[in-house]
Amino acid sequence: MALAVFNTLSRQLENFVPLDPHGKKVGLYCCGPTIHDFAHIGNFRTFVFADLMRRYLAYSGYEVKHVMNITDVEDKIIRRVREAGTSLKDYTAKYEAAFLEDLKTLACLPATDMPRATEHIPEIIELVEKLIERGIAYKAVDGSVYFSIEKYRGCGCTYGQLVKLNFEEMRQGERVSSDEYEKESIADFALWKARVPEDGQVFWDSPWGQGRPGWHIECSAMSMKSLGNSFDLHLGGEDLMFPHHEDEIAQSEGAGVQEAGKRFVKYWMHGAHLLVEGKKMAKSLGNFFTLRDLLAKGYAGREIRYLFISAHYREQFNFTLEGLESARAAIRRLDECLGKLREIAGSTPVQPADPALLEKIRAELDHDLNVSGAWGEVFIFVSQTNKSLAAGEINEVRASALLSFWAEADKVFGLGTGALPSEVPAEFQDLLDQRQAARKAKDFKRSDQIRDELKAKGWVIEDTPKGPKLKKV
Ligand code: AMP
Ligand code: ZN
Repeated sequence: MALAVFNTLSRQLENFVPLDPHGKKVGLYCCGPTIHDFAHIGNFRTFVFADLMRRYLAYSGYEVKHVMNITDVEDKIIRRVREAGTSLKDYTAKYEAAFLEDLKTLACLPATDMPRATEHIPEIIELVEKLIERGIAYKAVDGSVYFSIEKYRGCGCTYGQLVKLNFEEMRQGERVSSDEYEKESIADFALWKARVPEDGQVFWDSPWGQGRPGWHIECSAMSMKSLGNSFDLHLGGEDLMFPHHEDEIAQSEGAGVQEAGKRFVKYWMHGAHLLVEGKKMAKSLGNFFTLRDLLAKGYAGREIRYLFISAHYREQFNFTLEGLESARAAIRRLDECLGKLREIAGSTPVQPADPALLEKIRAELDHDLNVSGAWGEVFIFVSQTNKSLAAGEINEVRASALLSFWAEADKVFGLGTGALPSEVPAEFQDLLDQRQAARKAKDFKRSDQIRDELKAKGWVIEDTPKGPKLKKV
């Protein structure tokens, strides 16, 4: 079987065939964060989805170029910069750093390329100029430049490829200057926004006077700069389908820069939203969590990552703290099983993984990243392994092969290994080390003292072939 993905363009499952004639290179763009604040867990659900897709493509043998832009200038950011009374750079640097740190916590691989909008103003201007040349964009009286939906459609292009739009019922002819708007008020949207006093020092020179780019054109310019005018995959959360992605298509295809017969993007994939306790996350509802809020509650990045990738990306996901507790329990089961295998395998040379086991995981993921199916296989593996372990049927070679299976599968899941629940807290491990040192120095009085102290705290020392270990009484 080969990878098939649900393409929002066709609303169908399609076999994934890269544009690269050699079938090797894949270009993937996922709209990055708008760095106006700490990112919330909804945002991270989408970024973890993109990471999973990128990892699975790489696992499937593709050479993936993963581009994630940083939106460091748009309406919301400018409002916040004004409120904070700082410079754009000072304001966004803090949130960009926090975002990258959070991605790391969630074991998301760093994107191959991470363009910032503010560093692509010349490319943005060039793209707007092309649209003006082609008669699809025009300068309005206030000095802003707008994209003309009517002219675009007049060229035989379709506005409304990702979402169905009913032009009869829409209020046409109006213009929208804000970056976010609803389908009902579809209208010419801003490519370049003329400077207004509220923009403060956030402006650049352009052929149309001072101003700044609209949000949508930023992604068109950055994605085509990094990946070429036609590329394979464009990902994002479902809220971006309209207007953001629809506008990206209009701008990029409207500029006529693609080779004949080629689209701007071949496959569009959209992740469904994360809700909290069944409701849209909102600060006003008190159900709003940043990743940092969950870390402060004592959850680990890998537990949160597991929770996100335990459900299919196109399913709406209902986040609850109970769900996170179940994720913790599931990972613990897996960790415990792997821990036992590691103990048995010891320093046995790495053995090849069973291809049949891996094939089962692949068959599930090939089907539009069916993670539930893949986890089903992983947990069958865990229970079978536990049974064999209990029956004493696993020798060190077999244990090593089973560990190799997980190591391979985890290239996609990215959970890594965590501290096992039975793992010894650092303070007791320190005591054990001190006892070893005392024994080495033949200070048996001290070594016995430490042993007794450990025992009083509930830990006994066990001698194993790999040296002494602590075990909970
Ligand atoms: P933003 O920083 O607002 O531009 O959003 C970054 C990414 O997070 C985009 O791909 C959004 O579609 C996605 N996103 C925003 N809210 C949610 C949510 N509640 N659940 C899943 N993804 C979301
Ligand atoms: Zn975008």
